[in-house]
Amino acid sequence: MNIKDAKAKGLIIVFTGNGKGKTTAAMGMALRATGHRLKTLMIQFIKGSWHYGELEAVKKLNPYFEIVPMGNGFLSLRKGEIDPEDLQAIADAWKFSRKKIASGKYDMIILDEINYVISYHLLPVEEVLEVLRSKPKSLHLILTGRDADTKIVEIADLVTHMEEIKHPFHKGTKAQMGIEF
Ligand code: ATP
Ligand code: MG
Repeated sequence: MNIKDAKAKGLIIVFTGNGKGKTTAAMGMALRATGHRLKTLMIQFIKGSWHYGELEAVKKLNPYFEIVPMGNGFLSLRKGEIDPEDLQAIADAWKFSRKKIASGKYDMIILDEINYVISYHLLPVEEVLEVLRSKPKSLHLILTGRDADTKIVEIADLVTHMEEIKHPFHKGTKAQMGIEF
């Protein structure tokens, strides 16, 4: 069987839940895909300030695997208000994502933290569902983030809910290099 046959059915994949490992699970899949020279893109809807590890590593996998950090830090949201700059960043990330999905140039696209953005009503779920329904047939589309919308879960082919059993944060342990960033 050739590689193209193996990827003929593009899956909609969701990594959600409160436990750690959603974004890294998606990156693990991307790494696996990269080994088959499948073209993979990760769009980060929430720009992490500590995600430099993967950004550096992935540069070496270009052009098979690319990460595009978009969005703001969402500090305004944590304060309970929405900054217009955050909204604009989400709108830009979504526009970019739609363009890349429709382009047909990718085998796998990861929309990192999009579930979180939807759950805060910063992106209408119906718009996302429309894109999921009309995506290229062979494209694997991965959506990460806590609180995945039930409609997204319904349309997905694969959903994993990360359950938190323990997290070192609760003991006051700081973010560790290679684990968190
Ligand atoms: P990772 O990027 O490590 O796969 P994630 O995508 O599952 O984690 P997010 O919800 O995106 O987790 O959270 C981003 C960051 O917050 C990660 O560095 C993660 O370790 C940390 N984190 C996850 N769960 C908790 C928690 N319960 N308490 C505090 N920090 C957490
Ligand atoms: Mg994440």
